[in-house]
Amino acid sequence: MILVALFGCANRQPQPDVWTDPAWVYHECPKCESLDGGCYMKNSVSSYRSDKGKRCRHDWKRITKEEFDQKWKKRAGTEDHY
Ligand SMILES: [Zn+2]
Repeated sequence: MILVALFGCANRQPQPDVWTDPAWVYHECPKCESLDGGCYMKNSVSSYRSDKGKRCRHDWKRITKEEFDQKWKKRAGTEDHY
């Protein structure tokens, strides 16, 4: 299936459901340790990609803001994110 191949392309952002998800959501890809979170509706989103993450087919898992804060600080080296 060509469509499946297209939609399965690498390094996608998570796709929260804007109708049912809370406005602010945070994700981690456990495969490459990339982070992606914020308010997708307002496009206020912070994305961190590890070296591996640039070519990863992310498997985004929802994490809490607290977890995101800690991991962001450790990996991106700053506290600055949405
Ligand atoms: Zn990944």
